[in-house]
Amino acid sequence: MNYRFALFAALALAGASTAAIAKDGEFPKGTALPPPAMAGAGPDLSLDLMKAMTKRLSADDFEGRAPSTPIEPKVLDYIVAQFKAAGLQPGNHGQWLQPVPTVEITGEHQTPLTVTGGGTKLSFAFGNDYVAASYRVAPKTQVKDSDLVFVGYGINAPELGWNDYAGIDMKGKTAVILVNDPDYASKTEDGPFKGRRMTYYGRWTYKFEEAARQGATAAIIVHDTFPAAYGWNVVNSSWTGAQYYVQKPNDAMDQTMANGWVQKPVAEAILKAAGKDLASLTKAAQTKGFKAVPLGLKVSFGFDNAIRKSTSNNVVGVLPGKTRPDEYVLYSAHWDHLGHCTPDKTGDDICNGAVDNATGVAALTTLAKANVAEGPAARSQVFIALTLEESGLLGSEFYGANPIYPLDHTVGGVNMDALLPAGAAKSYTMTGGDKSELADLLHSALAERKLTEVPEEHSEKGGYYRSDHFSFAKRGVPMFDIGRSDDLVVGGEAAGAKAGEDYTENRYHGPKDEYSESWDWSGILQDLDLYYALGRTLADGSTWPNWRAGDEFRAIRDKSCAAATGGCHK
Ligand SMILES: [Zn+2]
Repeated sequence: MNYRFALFAALALAGASTAAIAKDGEFPKGTALPPPAMAGAGPDLSLDLMKAMTKRLSADDFEGRAPSTPIEPKVLDYIVAQFKAAGLQPGNHGQWLQPVPTVEITGEHQTPLTVTGGGTKLSFAFGNDYVAASYRVAPKTQVKDSDLVFVGYGINAPELGWNDYAGIDMKGKTAVILVNDPDYASKTEDGPFKGRRMTYYGRWTYKFEEAARQGATAAIIVHDTFPAAYGWNVVNSSWTGAQYYVQKPNDAMDQTMANGWVQKPVAEAILKAAGKDLASLTKAAQTKGFKAVPLGLKVSFGFDNAIRKSTSNNVVGVLPGKTRPDEYVLYSAHWDHLGHCTPDKTGDDICNGAVDNATGVAALTTLAKANVAEGPAARSQVFIALTLEESGLLGSEFYGANPIYPLDHTVGGVNMDALLPAGAAKSYTMTGGDKSELADLLHSALAERKLTEVPEEHSEKGGYYRSDHFSFAKRGVPMFDIGRSDDLVVGGEAAGAKAGEDYTENRYHGPKDEYSESWDWSGILQDLDLYYALGRTLADGSTWPNWRAGDEFRAIRDKSCAAATGGCHK
């Protein structure tokens, strides 16, 4: 079914009054149509394929697509068959699959966390007061009498002349770290760390990575609901139980012995025992030139680790380029979901993952099919259905660490995660804001469609760092993560907000994220049209979009390009 006809049909489905349509065959005022140039001649973005794949992947017999379970081979076979039918070639040196070795570590028998050296011994309970886990593949974790050091936000940003670890040797010590970045409380996006917008330096993952680089024995983040953007319940639930990691040759012995969080009152008690005050130390930490503060206290805690190793798989297909086949454009979407989850009132315990992310895998295949139909582009186009996104972006992390196509020959790309079956929109947001020259491409594609770009609503939540494109971006590859705003063609902001709330409150990561014949596809088709245009323009182009000057990933890209032969080497 051709795109233009499909959009017409879908708008009808979305209840745009047929009278309005019937009367003059025109679309409601403000409807965003493909630019005339594309109309008719445009890509064949098959709504039938979108529907068929979304429905199949989210069917009960796929049991919510949990990775590394007996259902995985069935999911892989289905995606490989669809990639083949779309006309792609096996993308991993003649193979369709890229195995991703993972390790599952479950902490047990956690001791209290004790602090000595401040007069009375302090003791805090696991779960209510503190949580911790080990990235290291070791049967036992024991932090014993480790010196505590308050390191402010724990940031080392050479490009900003900021280093909270300057002048302190962290070997054998435990870092106490504040969450988010020093200017998070700002009302604007101005400031060294982009004000209220969270930078990667503000993400908990960065804090633990940097503490490990500093040689710390352990790292403890102070939880605070506003700067963290979620409550202790989220920390507690995601840090107790099984943790998943990509297997590393060194069994992650380069990481700290233990990473964890404490509740804010616990941090206040510890600092008080050191004769310090959390509020004034936080103030100091927000000022450039802050120096880390040894607390004169020692911390101890420990637990056992149950270890299970397994392997899941990314599915990789490629459409080789015509004139510059050794330059690559990436398209990614994760296939995994939660499998069997907490049953709802009806007893349904299958988290079908129709929106999250059967729609993304269907979009991946539909874009591949349209590109094959259009004929190879100048550059090669790589389509990756990633695994283990729900377990911490592990499939993309593994690809990023073990790229099949060199990252310094990878131009950029787009990641698709959870396309909402709601109406077409008048505007789009770009998660992460204007981080790279990809934004220019987006602006012209939007302008062609009489669409606008609106700011991301919750930049303080660090959305850019929470899905698979981030595994490529943090290694320098510019990646798009865009989405429709709430301002829908039919029904405006109210309709968009309503659709978003219904998904977040009733369906997200639950048994009700299911396929329905009554879905409104007009918004998803609008997304597809835009993704197609962005990807194809990159693939037919010869430019190498870079990160904006001063962006946190610019230095990484410049370094990898400087060392490259060909590819992004200028
Ligand atoms: Zn997802």
